[in-house]
Amino acid sequence: MRLVSPLLKRVIYPGISRSGYLRRRSTAGPVVLTYHGVLPASYRSLDSVIDANPVSISDFRQQIRFLNAHYHVISPCEFRAWCDGGHTLPDRSVLLSCDDGLRSCMDCMLPVLVEEKLSCLFFITGASLRSDSPMLWHELLYLAFAGAALPLRIRVDNPLFELSVNKRKQIAGAYWQTLVRLSQMPEEERESAICDIWLQLKFNHQGIVEDSGNRARFQVMNASELVQLAHAGMELGAHTSSHLVLAHMPEQSAIKEIRENRAALQQLTGQSIWALAYPYGTAASATSREYQMAREAGFSCAFTNRAENSNSKFAMPRVHITRDMRISEFEAHVSGFHHSLQSIASRRTGAACI
Ligand SMILES: [Zn+2]
Repeated sequence: MRLVSPLLKRVIYPGISRSGYLRRRSTAGPVVLTYHGVLPASYRSLDSVIDANPVSISDFRQQIRFLNAHYHVISPCEFRAWCDGGHTLPDRSVLLSCDDGLRSCMDCMLPVLVEEKLSCLFFITGASLRSDSPMLWHELLYLAFAGAALPLRIRVDNPLFELSVNKRKQIAGAYWQTLVRLSQMPEEERESAICDIWLQLKFNHQGIVEDSGNRARFQVMNASELVQLAHAGMELGAHTSSHLVLAHMPEQSAIKEIRENRAALQQLTGQSIWALAYPYGTAASATSREYQMAREAGFSCAFTNRAENSNSKFAMPRVHITRDMRISEFEAHVSGFHHSLQSIASRRTGAACI
């Protein structure tokens, strides 16, 4: 989870934003923003951590209007042309992207984007291509962990995997260990292991899925909605078939995750699927092995969720937009000011976050 000190959020960013400095600051190349959908009005929050990413509809509208007024919001098509070479972009160019293909992309984000005459690159998983358009399994798994009584014990046999959690603050680490372990398994074993974990955690999966507010928040778009999104001027990108931790998968399984998702999206929409976003997008979930896989699969570029610049088109940084960002903090991130401060702080103190 991204941590920003209260002093920066409440004093420094608002002050520097009011001064107008951030509106004159050059960016080092195009800035790519990552959204994770919008929180629908009908949804009552189940967990503050899982709900930290989607923004409110009013914040989304305010941010998009702000970008339209103060930046050059470029289309995915322009970004691709820049990426492939031969197309220059103006200073302070911004590309909008959004991961996971949640239903709120269609219901809440699309009307704002159409109103503001902007296009966004939506990264879609194989869940949207299934006939039942479910909730994303990794989000359900997180809800199972977050709602479990302590002490939390999990044991999955064949191959053996055991987990023991006694404190609430250990939940996030246990969840990640489980994601990694499940990513290492063959597909058929993984599905039965997930069901087994829900049983052991006494997780009422069906109760969560059937609640209408939860569906509005967590359900993914289906195939016909993806086609509508494409027809409305949006572009789609690949986010793998199953949203697993690619870096921990056997090599051939990871390649299949990337390539099959791309082929299915191309077949559905007729669009060229030229960009990939690595699931989770952290240093631990996508490594040089996965960058090479993306290159060999034929993508023009691939995105992480990290802010650090890299020299590779297959490890492009993105600015992760979260629900707690007010407009001055948003501006500090988009302008690159926050990242510059973070780089200075980490060089001086070794701290990862400020
Ligand atoms: Zn994702």
